[in-house]
Amino acid sequence: MKKTVNQIKQEQGFDKKAPMCNNCKYFTYDEVRGTHFYDEYRVYQKNLRCAIGSFAVKSTNWCKLHERKQE
Ligand code: SF4
Repeated sequence: MKKTVNQIKQEQGFDKKAPMCNNCKYFTYDEVRGTHFYDEYRVYQKNLRCAIGSFAVKSTNWCKLHERKQE
């Protein structure tokens, strides 16, 4: 019997969202409201950090200690 695309994806462990700091439970940041480019009322993230190592990260970084945040 031929496998469906969804079965193949499941077997491969396919995930649309790659592991990144911004979907990790150890990702911390400050929410800042203010001027960001041209959008004056936008809320954006500042001081992005890893709670384990206490170092600065970018939202698309990741490491082997990544644990997905529950959404
Ligand atoms: S550096 Fe690793 S543990 Fe820290 S927030 Fe990023 S993925 Fe998570």
